[in-house]
Amino acid sequence: MSSVRSIAKTLLLGELLQGLAVTFRYLWKPKFTVHYPEERAPQSVRYRGLHALRRYPNGEERCIACKLCEAVCPALAITIESDVSADGTRRTTRYDIDLFKCIFCGFCEEACPVDAIVETRIHEYHMENRGENIMSKDKLLAVGERYEAMITADKTADAPYR
Ligand code: SF4
Ligand code: SF4
Repeated sequence: MSSVRSIAKTLLLGELLQGLAVTFRYLWKPKFTVHYPEERAPQSVRYRGLHALRRYPNGEERCIACKLCEAVCPALAITIESDVSADGTRRTTRYDIDLFKCIFCGFCEEACPVDAIVETRIHEYHMENRGENIMSKDKLLAVGERYEAMITADKTADAPYR
């Protein structure tokens, strides 16, 4: 009996009509599709995207090479080497983040005592060549300089979404 019903359903295109009914039911309802990149879905100010190293307003590097971020990183994605700089302060001579290892957990940002390493809301980036997954100190500082206004605004924002 069930096989007869199954054959009848197939011949009468029952499932096709069911599918079309769903299509027509939603034809004039509000659309959920976001026309990226012209339209954007809401993004939390706490979104964890591309990393940045920050400077103080006077241009001085915030990072004091304490290596807490390197120690806390569960993915071992951060590599730091340090030395004493000309003015007697301790500074990093190498600060690399391997984006292929990073799991964007945010622990590095939480561990940093001087708000030097942060994760921006930038998620639109790509790599074309081998090795570009390594964010070197220069690249991280450049991201920080470019997006400092956004980083500062996000850190002082009350609303979780904008
Ligand atoms: S976000 Fe997490 S995994 Fe990525 S570098 Fe920071 S601590 Fe490591
Ligand atoms: S980024 Fe912050 S936690 Fe990491 S070494 Fe520099 S000061 Fe320390």
